Amino acid sequence: MIDLHSHTNESDGSCSPKQLVEEAVRAGVTTLGITDHDTFAGYDQALGAAASAGLGLVCGIELSTKLHGHSVHLLGYFFGSNGLTGFRQWVLELQASRRERNIRLAERLRELGFDITIEEAEARGRGMTGRPHFAQIMVEKGYVRGFREAFDEYLDESAKGYVYRQEPQFAESVEHVREAGGIASLAHPIRVNGDVAALMPELRDAGMNAIEAYHSDHDEEHTAMYLALAKQYGILVTGGSDFHGDVKPDVKLGTGYEGNLHIPEDLLDRLTGR
Ligand code: AMP
Ligand code: ZN
Ligand code: FE
Ligand code: FE
Repeated sequence: MIDLHSHTNESDGSCSPKQLVEEAVRAGVTTLGITDHDTFAGYDQALGAAASAGLGLVCGIELSTKLHGHSVHLLGYFFGSNGLTGFRQWVLELQASRRERNIRLAERLRELGFDITIEEAEARGRGMTGRPHFAQIMVEKGYVRGFREAFDEYLDESAKGYVYRQEPQFAESVEHVREAGGIASLAHPIRVNGDVAALMPELRDAGMNAIEAYHSDHDEEHTAMYLALAKQYGILVTGGSDFHGDVKPDVKLGTGYEGNLHIPEDLLDRLTGR
């Protein structure tokens, strides 16, 4: 069984990289892609454990990008590619701009009268600290009644505490992945804002060369539709559960929600060009 989409606690999953490897082995996964949001830290730390356990590990990342002003997730897969140094540098720059935004966000919230520091937020989110961690703190300190209110009143793009963050554009992100020899796959297309079929020419022209047809959020019809698009546009197919551990306890490694996910094994051969 293969699963090319999973998260560790280096982004927003609950398992440490080592625990994720153990979970994967227990679940019967033979090849696992670790695709943390905007970081390789989880993959890097899982390498040793995976080698000892005989688990095939695929180097991946899930990038938060902007397409026509909306958030679109892009998966990057690197099957033993060389050009990764430059790409990793670019990812570090993304992390630096996130941290710089978080510092300004903490300042803004203090201006609004809340006792919140960057250290408190980073204690929760570490390398992937973001607005949800600030929301958590606001809830815990009783500044808002709930997560919803924290976003609606303060953290949402339209709310008074919002501070701008430079996010990479979809096309730019695809370019970086491809330059580094990676496969650029549209993550969970079902969540894309807009008609994916209509967007396909633009995405393909940007260099996107795969689509995540198999995903826990897809039913059979969705999967069939995305497989057809892959065929029509001559691009590759990827698939994964989007496992987050206890953060999304109903999604299981390799099998998704109650076994709704069936990722064909031969997908790997196509991706690796065997
Ligand atoms: P950041 O990357 O720090 O800008 O935070 C983005 C994350 O915040 C998203 O992945 C969502 O999980 C969450 N988020 C953004 N906007 C909202 C909103 N209006 N309501 C709830 N959660 C949101
Ligand atoms: Zn996630
Ligand atoms: Fe995603
Ligand atoms: Fe994901």
